[in-house]
Amino acid sequence: MAIRKIVTKENPVLHSKCKPVERFDKKLWELLDDMAETLHEAQGVGLAAPQVGILRRVVVIESSQGLIELINPVIVKKSGKQRDVEGCLSCPDQWGYVTRPNKCTVKAQNRNGEFFTLSLEGLDCRCACHEVDHLEGKLFLELVDEFVEITEEEE
Ligand code: ZN
Repeated sequence: MAIRKIVTKENPVLHSKCKPVERFDKKLWELLDDMAETLHEAQGVGLAAPQVGILRRVVVIESSQGLIELINPVIVKKSGKQRDVEGCLSCPDQWGYVTRPNKCTVKAQNRNGEFFTLSLEGLDCRCACHEVDHLEGKLFLELVDEFVEITEEEE
């Protein structure tokens, strides 16, 4: 496993559409392991492959149920609404209010290519929507209705 470099919003890779994963091989597993390690090191809640420079439909989320790997994810159902402050590892120091669905159902494949569906709510749902947007080359910044200043506590 290795920590990969997280690219920031100036990088064109974050504004491009990702290709589906077709091979569920060692290279994919290595990417998934590296993404999980990179996410934990950055203390984030979610990471999409374009954030480490890879234009493939791969997402990892540190959810309330533990680590979730989503390959070729599609949000098939959304309901409710939530508005809360959101940030992104690729947009350091930028925070703002985004309205997202409160519940969603995601259809995806696991690292072996097997399909599954997952119901997510609250922060897990927000995170999945944010990460799936990355796969479409979309950043949360364009959904922010009010930016906020957050000063990190120094200790
Ligand atoms: Zn993000």
